[in-house]
Amino acid sequence: MAKAGNYAGAGQYPGSYYAASRNIERSPKVLEGAVETDICVIGGGYSGLSTSIHLAEKGYKVTLVEGAQIGWGASGRNGGQVVNGLNASLDTIKRRYGDDAARFVGGMVQEGAQTIYRLIEQYGIECDLKRGNIYTAYTSAHMRELEAKKALWESYGMSDHVMLDRNALRAEVGSTVYAGGMLDTSGGHLHPLNLTLGEARALESLGGEIYELSTVTRVDQSSEKPIVYTEKGQVTARIVVACGNAYLGHVIPELTDRVLPASTQIIATEPLSEELARKLLPGDKCVEDVRYILDYYRLSADRRMLFGGGTIYGGTDPADIIAKIRPNMVKVFPELENVKIDYAWSGNFAISFTRVPQMGRLGKNVYFAHGYSGHGVTGTHLFGKILAAAIDGDQSRFDTFAAMPWYPFPGGRMFRAQYSTIGSWWYAFKDKFGL
Ligand SMILES: Cc1cc2nc3c(=O)[nH]c(=O)nc-3n(C[C@H](O)[C@H](O)[C@H](O)COP(=O)(O)OP(=O)(O)OC[C@H]3O[C@@H](n4cnc5c(N)ncnc54)[C@H](O)[C@@H]3O)c2cc1C
Repeated sequence: MAKAGNYAGAGQYPGSYYAASRNIERSPKVLEGAVETDICVIGGGYSGLSTSIHLAEKGYKVTLVEGAQIGWGASGRNGGQVVNGLNASLDTIKRRYGDDAARFVGGMVQEGAQTIYRLIEQYGIECDLKRGNIYTAYTSAHMRELEAKKALWESYGMSDHVMLDRNALRAEVGSTVYAGGMLDTSGGHLHPLNLTLGEARALESLGGEIYELSTVTRVDQSSEKPIVYTEKGQVTARIVVACGNAYLGHVIPELTDRVLPASTQIIATEPLSEELARKLLPGDKCVEDVRYILDYYRLSADRRMLFGGGTIYGGTDPADIIAKIRPNMVKVFPELENVKIDYAWSGNFAISFTRVPQMGRLGKNVYFAHGYSGHGVTGTHLFGKILAAAIDGDQSRFDTFAAMPWYPFPGGRMFRAQYSTIGSWWYAFKDKFGL
């Protein structure tokens, strides 16, 4: 169960469809005693794994320390939607940080997905990759929003988007609720936990060391080489990279106020008949709608509908996930009203105040990346690559991100979730009235 506060790792995977269908069974090795390494990475999600692999590929000795198991956090529980770009639109980045920042981010918004595809290909990772993701629109205002997004992305040289009118969308999504949508042929979907497990194996093949069930309790930054303490051991490294995202809690106090944990939930139906699956999602692409509090869904490789949604600021789990998510699914696909739900789970992601993910450095040798704000499958892979380049001496892209100002959530630690909840009511109101 996910809870806010200090590190919440529970050791075992949650009762998700992904955990039940994982294709690599690891034998976790616990950190005991003292270890010396070049780079110590905290967190075995995509941020930590991407950073570690890119560093190991450059010849660094990497030690990754995970409190639970590889992919235990958001990376092994998410919707599996490979969506290009960051949560904050290029327009928002331009408004907040200026033209140069938008051009800079615009030049790399497809690099995260390309990095994932490269890793899958190069290391033979089996994770049910399928190409294409669709954004759906409920109203003509949403359609205009998508058209503007397409034009904006084209202005940055991306030409993989295709507008879908109501009929064209119906050929991809067998639901009557939408006014249309937009296809991104360069996105896709995959089994997220199997991606993390494959990446862990890739890291080990490069000589990287992975410790699991080894919670980091503190990082001592007082000497030349930082020391990462776990319950039973310690790692002394030249550089530490903190990739605990929403689950890091207050382990590195300087990072606590930068992001807010939020939870979102997914249900997995029993396997659908081939006929029904083809009727609901004929093109087998993944789908998310454009609302603030959005639905996201896709078919698994064994034809289950994996349907996600909802956001709870503060990162707690709802009392009854199925009662919360099933009605949303049935609104889109009434055919699924009586279908059995085999799995339901929740996970935490980290939101930054501007919805732009953050990377930076504390002192001389503790780096961090977090705050992908719900769109992190691609962003994490990109940020890991940029962090690795920075540690290897090419600071150019790191410096631009690190220089972007960040803002704490109003209300301090006590009240920030409440403020964000008020914000989410406003967004739910806007969604309801199509504003
Ligand atoms: C239910 C859900 C659905 C989502 N769907 C999508 C989607 O479809 N598409 C998309 O782009 N994004 C999605 N996201 C967001 C995306 O999954 C995240 O942005 C991304 O996985 C973050 O990766 P990460 O490595 O930074 O963090 P995580 O994957 O959370 O990894 C952090 C790891 O650090 C470990 N850790 C933390 N503290 C410590 C400590 N003190 N000691 C040791 N280890 C520690 C944790 O155990 C955890 O394994 C979703 C998120 C959730 C929760």
